[in-house]
Amino acid sequence: MKDFKQRNILLNPGPACISSRVKKAQIIPDICPREREFGDVMERVSKGLLGFVKNTNNASCVLFGGSGTLAVEAALSSLVSSKHKLAIINNGAYGERMCEIARLHDLNFIEFRSDVLELIDYDGLLGFLQKERPDFLALVHSETTSGLINDLKIISKLAKPLGIKIIADCMSSYACYELDLKEVDMIIASSNKNIQGMAGVSFVIANDDLLEGAKYAKSLYLDLASQYKYFKKNHQMRFTPPVQTIYALDEAIRELEEEGLENRYKRYEESNQVLREGLLSLGFEVYPKNGAGVIISAVMLKDGMDFDKLHDYCKDRGFTIYPGKIAGLDMFRIANIGMIDSWDMRLFLEILKEFERDFKS
Ligand SMILES: *Cc1c(COP(=O)(O)O)cnc(C)c1O
Repeated sequence: MKDFKQRNILLNPGPACISSRVKKAQIIPDICPREREFGDVMERVSKGLLGFVKNTNNASCVLFGGSGTLAVEAALSSLVSSKHKLAIINNGAYGERMCEIARLHDLNFIEFRSDVLELIDYDGLLGFLQKERPDFLALVHSETTSGLINDLKIISKLAKPLGIKIIADCMSSYACYELDLKEVDMIIASSNKNIQGMAGVSFVIANDDLLEGAKYAKSLYLDLASQYKYFKKNHQMRFTPPVQTIYALDEAIRELEEEGLENRYKRYEESNQVLREGLLSLGFEVYPKNGAGVIISAVMLKDGMDFDKLHDYCKDRGFTIYPGKIAGLDMFRIANIGMIDSWDMRLFLEILKEFERDFKS
């Protein structure tokens, strides 16, 4: 079998670099996904995904075929009935996306807006929640727009005493940060970020009673309670699953179990640290200055620096970087997720240095 000798380093915020081992796990004899043996694989995957979250004794993981946004849309539209009130923290593109979902599904919702590059004013948030008394608070844990972390521990301490259920888009924090169902009520993530699998599966983790109650969808496909009940009964998705992606995810879970969640966090943290320090020493401005996680860095382009030129220069040398205008500022983003480590970051910093030298005139 072809061994993947060419190594492209993806520094975009997912899909991330994945191992040959995970890629190869997709190549399997033809199988009808309605067969029992495939149901067993999905059952194992679902349990495996739960295993990276704390306090899941009464919880399940519901799988959908589709990218992360699908699971966010399914969760919000299924949970919030016409009698409910939803609050959404909006401090980046993915918070904004939740608002768009709420608008399209005609949900009764209110927005808590906050600066894209600054920490949330938690006192302000508390006041907002006390005044509005929503049933659900939806938010993005790691805002992939900027790398800003919305602190689940703090937010949980504010919202829980008010009886508010927390729905967290953990797309770019799951499988790196330790998440806890005592802090958040619903966790949403996907197969192609820190878990280091192929794109195509998204999932929702929550306690069974919450999943069973998520029955207000006005869409056939995005119906969380139905997907949950069907899976529980049949060990199957209701509709055709992305078979090969699930085999890859099964392998990616094993890889993470072997590496350990804590070690994955440490690996990402080290990459992030090397990257940040290197960028600063090259004279770049790196954001967010406070509250950044270990996943994503937003970097300001220097005066006269052309993103497309930089992108092509890095790409020719095996590194893919990602654009990202934030709040009208000319930035690009580096995600240090996937099967890469701090040595790749050092290499990338060398390339940046050479770029600056080559284009200095
Ligand atoms: C990646 C991501 C998503 C999902 O995006 P898709 O393109 O649908 O996979 C949602 N929220 C956040 C915070 C993300 O990083």
